[in-house]
Amino acid sequence: MLGPNDCVTHVLPDFPDTVEVSVDKVTEARGWACPLARGLMRHQFAASHLIVYGGGVIALIMVCLCATVLYQGRADALDRARETSRNVALIAERDIERNFELYDLSLQAVVEGMSEPDVMALPPHLIRAVLFDRAATAKYLGSMLVLDASGNILIDASDKPRKGNFADRKYFTVHRDNPNIGLYISDPYQSKLRDGEPSIALTRRLSHPDGSFAGIVLFAVNLEYFHNLFAGLSLGPHGSIALIGKNGIMVMRQPYEARIIGRDISQASTFRQFASEAEGSFSETASIDGVRRLYSFKNFPDLPLIIMVAEAEQDVYAAWRKRTTMIGSLMAALGVGFVVLSFLLGVQLRRRLRAESELQVLARTDGLTGLHNRRTLGEILDHEWRRAKRARSVFSLLFVDLDRFKAYNDTYGHQAGDDVLAAAAQCIGENIRRPGDSAARYGGEEFVVVLPNTPPAGASLIAEKIRVAISELGIEHTGSEHGRVTASIGMASWTPNQGDDVTAVIKAADEALYNAKATGRNKVSRARMECADPVT
Ligand code: GH3
Ligand code: MG
Ligand code: MG
Repeated sequence: MLGPNDCVTHVLPDFPDTVEVSVDKVTEARGWACPLARGLMRHQFAASHLIVYGGGVIALIMVCLCATVLYQGRADALDRARETSRNVALIAERDIERNFELYDLSLQAVVEGMSEPDVMALPPHLIRAVLFDRAATAKYLGSMLVLDASGNILIDASDKPRKGNFADRKYFTVHRDNPNIGLYISDPYQSKLRDGEPSIALTRRLSHPDGSFAGIVLFAVNLEYFHNLFAGLSLGPHGSIALIGKNGIMVMRQPYEARIIGRDISQASTFRQFASEAEGSFSETASIDGVRRLYSFKNFPDLPLIIMVAEAEQDVYAAWRKRTTMIGSLMAALGVGFVVLSFLLGVQLRRRLRAESELQVLARTDGLTGLHNRRTLGEILDHEWRRAKRARSVFSLLFVDLDRFKAYNDTYGHQAGDDVLAAAAQCIGENIRRPGDSAARYGGEEFVVVLPNTPPAGASLIAEKIRVAISELGIEHTGSEHGRVTASIGMASWTPNQGDDVTAVIKAADEALYNAKATGRNKVSRARMECADPVT
């Protein structure tokens, strides 16, 4: 069976020319194929495109959904980290606040004790015992001193009282110069009495009954307290926690670096944000180590301190990034696979549809000549006849029959006869040009040409052209009175009325053909129509 792109080559034995009949050319290029079949083909190909594009769109939706979920996961990771940081800051703040409150209560006890003459009248070791109680044994408390108005040590809680003057320290001058300051918390300093131990001082003023400056009470807290407190909190490999004075002086920071303690960071943009609100969180790159972190901070309500907890973004997103990479690559692979599958499915479907369409065309086509077959001719006649009835238009029909073809077969063989049939079909096809015109193989060496909306004059012209074209093929036919292959053509034209049947036109054209045969062959004969409305 022939496909539309197959090419049948018929070599005529006694003639130099080769007659080629391509089914594809005959059916497609000249537009003889049924428009219905072409429309169906177009719809089917559109469906295959829909599958490919639909697959692409579904894959895109999947990828978008996945991206949204993953992006949401990123936001969740950030929220969780913010929550954790806030909690850690709160825990550290409460611990520091509680300890400082206890230290302050002890300081106040000393201040009150110093104003009791009975206490001050006791021997020095008892004064120490009464004033400092058991506070001296607190783990992170360094020195506990009472300084006189000149800054000299008046009372030392230590078992071995030491000598020293601290009149130059800010924690001393601040009380001397400002009578109204209650609890003062100093910046970090290195203790003179304890081999440079980094400390901060909690101090309160001592006043004479007349309100004049009498000295200060001082508790020195080792920074080790904060160091140990922060070291116990887990904030990821690049996390950081810091206690900063409200004046911007760094008190303690984890990860710990001695050189950072006491540094003034008041000009850092991070610190400006700490100072701008009571508490909050934001992301920024640290000025100290250049790591981008999520900062949560809280200003102590009653102390001149700020606690800051920061998780590095690389730590916050580490688990999310790992998950995203895994799911993202899986989704990407899935999406690509889906698109490829849709594409392959589309290609397969298109191939199948093409094959089906080709089969449909072949089922409607005569295999030898590439013209419509008898079945299709029936459909075309029916369709065009009804149209002519509706439009009251002229309907013409040609009956083409090769002359003395039996003799040709007998002389030149059946194969040569087939080649002639194909060549004659080509002549017919080449001479019908309008889209509505159709040609079909009626059977054997007979062809029918349907010419809708074509008056007799036009139909005669086409019939004559076909006759001349077949004759001019110049195919030798010794058994014919014309010496070459020729055709006789019967022609009928009719403007159909309701109730008229197309078989009447076929019959009329057949009779005209008979007349052409009877009067010498190789001629066109027009039917004499005796029915209603024949066009004569
Ligand atoms: P006329 O001029 O009166 O039409 O004579 P004719 O011989 O052409 O008519 P007839 O009906 O007697 O013979 C038709 C011949 O056409 C018979 C057969 O040999 C030949 N024929 C029919 N179908 C085919 C075909 O498919 N291939 C070939 N090669 N020949 C065919
Ligand atoms: Mg015949
Ligand atoms: Mg014949």
